[in-house]
Amino acid sequence: MNPWFAKAVILLASIVMVVIRAPHGQRSRTVPVVRSRRGPLEVVLLTIAWVAFFIPLIWIATPVFAFADYPLDPIPLATGTLCLALGLWLFHRSHADLGTNWSITLAVREKHQLVTHGVYRWLRHPMYLALLIYSLGQALVLPNWLAGPSYGVAMVLLIALRLRPEERMMLEQFGKDYQAYTATTKRLIPGVW
Ligand code: SAH
Repeated sequence: MNPWFAKAVILLASIVMVVIRAPHGQRSRTVPVVRSRRGPLEVVLLTIAWVAFFIPLIWIATPVFAFADYPLDPIPLATGTLCLALGLWLFHRSHADLGTNWSITLAVREKHQLVTHGVYRWLRHPMYLALLIYSLGQALVLPNWLAGPSYGVAMVLLIALRLRPEERMMLEQFGKDYQAYTATTKRLIPGVW
């Protein structure tokens, strides 16, 4: 299959992701941070995530990763496109439910409220699940051994190293309310973990 199908899907998905996040990024700048956990590890992880976001776009625009290309197949293209759509829907829903409590990093904002409604009723980290589903979609759609899984590697690293410090921060902030919330929800995989 012509790799331009994959290029079009990846480009569109990247644009949708930016369009979903942009208003939240802008709004979050107007809500003061009262407690931040943005240490050196966070800065490194966020930098890796940014670089990994651009690698597929570099694959689209330039031949630098061409040596690791493989032929595009319609089945992974279709499956991956579904994953990208599902990931983007959950990414949108979790941003909408978190509202002004969202931060790109680990932070407590002014008038921070514990969100337990919407998709947060089912999981404590739906946005991270969205990013993992999106990454899987990208790995399936993008027929290149390096650029395909790049975002997934960055997301697994970010989520694995951030999940526990984030939960500790929430527990310190919300105490018994967060304890009660963790007792009724799973972290990343509904009904499992
Ligand atoms: N881990 C969550 C949120 C990611 S955004 C998810 O995957 O959906 C990261 C910020 O969200 C953190 O800095 C924290 O302050 C905030 N946060 C995480 N869970 C929250 C919740 N249930 N209610 C309010 N804020 C939350």
